[in-house]
Amino acid sequence: MVIKHYIWLFSLVFFSIWQSMQIEIWPVAWHSLLNYSLYVVVAIGVFISLWLNRIQPFLVLMSIGLLNGLLTYFAAPSEMNLASAVLFPVLAFLLPLNLLLWILLPEKGIYNKRFDLAVLSLFIVQGIVIYWLMTDLPLQWVEPLSLRVIEGSQVLQLPFASSLMFLLAGFVLSFKLRYHRFKVLYHAVMVVFLLMAYGLNAFFEPSILAWFSLVSASIIILSVIFDSHHIAYTDELTGIMGRRALYEAFLGFGRKYSIAMVDIDHFKSFNDTYGHDIGDEVLRTVASILNTVSGGRAYRYGGEEFVLVFPGKTTAESLPELERLRAAIADESLEFVVKGKPVQTQVKISIGVAENDKDHKMPEAVLKFADEGLYKAKKAGRNRVVETLSPPKKVATRAPRATAKTVKASSKNSPRKTS
Ligand code: GH3
Ligand code: MG
Ligand code: MG
Repeated sequence: MVIKHYIWLFSLVFFSIWQSMQIEIWPVAWHSLLNYSLYVVVAIGVFISLWLNRIQPFLVLMSIGLLNGLLTYFAAPSEMNLASAVLFPVLAFLLPLNLLLWILLPEKGIYNKRFDLAVLSLFIVQGIVIYWLMTDLPLQWVEPLSLRVIEGSQVLQLPFASSLMFLLAGFVLSFKLRYHRFKVLYHAVMVVFLLMAYGLNAFFEPSILAWFSLVSASIIILSVIFDSHHIAYTDELTGIMGRRALYEAFLGFGRKYSIAMVDIDHFKSFNDTYGHDIGDEVLRTVASILNTVSGGRAYRYGGEEFVLVFPGKTTAESLPELERLRAAIADESLEFVVKGKPVQTQVKISIGVAENDKDHKMPEAVLKFADEGLYKAKKAGRNRVVETLSPPKKVATRAPRATAKTVKASSKNSPRKTS
């Protein structure tokens, strides 16, 4: 996960813990407003999840909302009664269990009838168990859940079973995080485990649980927004930024910049020989090498075409880096298994690069101009970088090592038809 997500997550954790220590000196009106805003935030989050068709945040928010609703209605922290003696340990145990379950379930969207039915029955079963415990009160059943880590401790009030469940849930989630490093929601739930454990531990102090629930719900909402942003701007296949991000970068260029258009050579025949899946694998490898670009940024333009942008750099300044990338890809040995047989091959790229000038003021025009260079690179034999300049309209060709060839082509050549 990108460092910026850790920054906002940890800032919110510190802020919420710091504020929870001041909660007693909050004005009285804030306390009632807190309970009210918690449900408003949960409702907003539920609405956003429904809108974006995401069942995991939907269920996490519902669980946080229901926990608070049930505890405030049946077991107000101020009046320690039999109901709270039963309900609190049960819910404190069920919350981490539920959150973990919702995160382990596959994200199948909200509008999946069978899945919804299964989830609904899980809620109903838990509701029945809670109702039964509340009405029949077989206290000996609840007792194991109520045992404290340290009996009589003022600091550690969370029951042992609940603490264990929180730890276990965090431990299991940490494994999931290894495979979904870019999913902000999962990191957010990890933080929610921490905050809700903290909040439940201080449940018998007024407003503490509501405060941590409010912060948790806000964290979940932010993570859903950030995840959606990531999906919109990242190319799914290669994991590098996509065309939408490129067009957004166009808006922020300064006075000088250069843009390179990259295309894999003979990729169609590569696909035809080894299959589409291996082709995808190659696209990922090429993208990951292009993403190492220094002084610029790499984007997948579409298909087997990529764009590299170099803000603040002329073509002359970006050429060495482009040449390095071309060579790095050409030298990369691709190894995979096709129909049980190991295959070792290579892939090459051609690059056209151009900078902004008085004839090409807008990034779109520079990109087109770079595309002309790419066309010439292909014509000149591929596996090379071609710089297009104007005026005077001349073309300098950089070919690999000893095979250097110079192509004399005017930039008036008809633009290559992009595939
Ligand atoms: P050239 O050297 O002239 O660029 O030849 P080429 O074969 O690379 O060019 P062409 O435009 O004819 O073919 C591009 C191929 O890229 C066509 C398509 O099969 C393949 N392709 C485009 N997108 C994807 C993708 O997402 N995955 C895979 N595996 N192949 C793709
Ligand atoms: Mg190609
Ligand atoms: Mg192409």
